[in-house]
Parts: sequence; C-alpha cells; structure tokens
Amino acid sequence: MVTEQLRPHGVTDQRVLEAMASVPREEFLAPRMRRHAYEDRALAIECGQTISQPLVVALMIQAAAPDPGDVALEVGTGSGYAAAVLSRMCRRVVSVEREPALAEHASDTLRRLGFDGVEVAVGDGSLGWPAAAPYDLILVAAAARGVPPALIDQLADGGRMVIPVAVSVEEPQDLRVYERRGGEVTYRSLFPVLFVPLRTG
Ligand code: SAH
Repeated sequence: MVTEQLRPHGVTDQRVLEAMASVPREEFLAPRMRRHAYEDRALAIECGQTISQPLVVALMIQAAAPDPGDVALEVGTGSGYAAAVLSRMCRRVVSVEREPALAEHASDTLRRLGFDGVEVAVGDGSLGWPAAAPYDLILVAAAARGVPPALIDQLADGGRMVIPVAVSVEEPQDLRVYERRGGEVTYRSLFPVLFVPLRTG
C-alpha cells in the first residue's frame, strides 16, 4: 500500500507513511471484506457507509499537517480506521459518529488494537464536539453542502480543517483545507472527491 498507492501519488510526509504502514486496515473491516483490505479504493462497512480509500486518508492527514501535541477532531468515525492513523500523529483524537452501531463497533476495534488516544462519541458532528474544543486539526469524512459554522468556531488559532464540500449536485465534491489565523479563515482546494453525505440532526 505504501510503496504502490501512497508514495507514487503524492504522500511524501514520512510520518504519514509510517502511520499508514503501522495501522492494519483489515482489522477495521468485516471478515468477508478483509481480503480486499489493501485494494486502492473505498470499501463498504456497516450501515451503508464506507471506509475511505487509503490514499485519500493519507492525503487528508498530510494536508492537515498534524503535530505530536495536537488535539484533533474527526467527524464521521465509520470503521475507526482514519482515527487510528491520525492518533499515531496527535496527542488526542475525538471522533464523532452519528450512527450508534458504527460508533460502538469502531470503539471496540480501537480498544482491542490499543489505540488509547482515540475517544469515540455519538452525535451530530456537524455541531463539532464542544467539550474538547478548540481543535488544532479537524478532519471531516462526509461531504457537507457548506462548511458547518460550529466547526469553524471550534478551530484553534493556527488550526487546519480538511473537509469535502459539495459545491453542486452534478459535480464531485471539492476537498478543501481551511486554516484559521486569528480572526481570518482562508481555504485552498486540494482535489475532487466522493464522500458519503454529512447528515445533520
Ligand atoms: N473515517 C471513516 C470513514 C467514514 S464514512 C473510516 O476511516 O472508516 C463517513 C461517516 O460519517 C459514516 O460513518 C457516517 O455515518 C458518518 N456521518 C455522516 N453524517 C454525520 C454527522 N452529521 N455526524 C457524525 N458522523 C456522520
């Protein structure tokens, strides 16, 4: 995965490559899906959701530039895979999932594999998770129509947020990196993506 999918496609940060190499993706999949674990694509998990393509996880984390002291928020725990990778590079990860069954399963997997730096919470992540805010880094794994204001509010000064934004129904989503500097928030576009929708409520 690292030599064929990540390195040749723009993942250059050695820490991201090491984190990706150290997390067993198969452990986050149902037994019947495990033989596909190292294919270069998103895969089905429970509740009609997906575990993202490894390249997309790696590029999102690289763009968010985690620091070992960072507190991170992930919206959309899904299988827990991206949270596990992120936890290798941050001090603390809070991951919010809307589907209780997925949250429970991901939490069990993370605990079983010893990813103690991740806390999984059930809720609507478009509201962020105020209890642990502000966040140095926010990763959103579901596509929003616009950027949820609560997530901008919970971004620390100097913080980075990577989020797929649905610009129109016909086009792929625009993966963006937002950055807060004092009162100013700016963004740049990374590349087109296809994520499941961020469902509010
Ligand atoms: N990061 C995951 C992939 C997540 S797929 C992994 O590595 O496996 C996107 C997830 O976002 C789905 O599990 C979906 O249930 C969840 N989701 C959608 N809307 C949400 C919301 N408003 N708050 C929290 N989670 C949400």
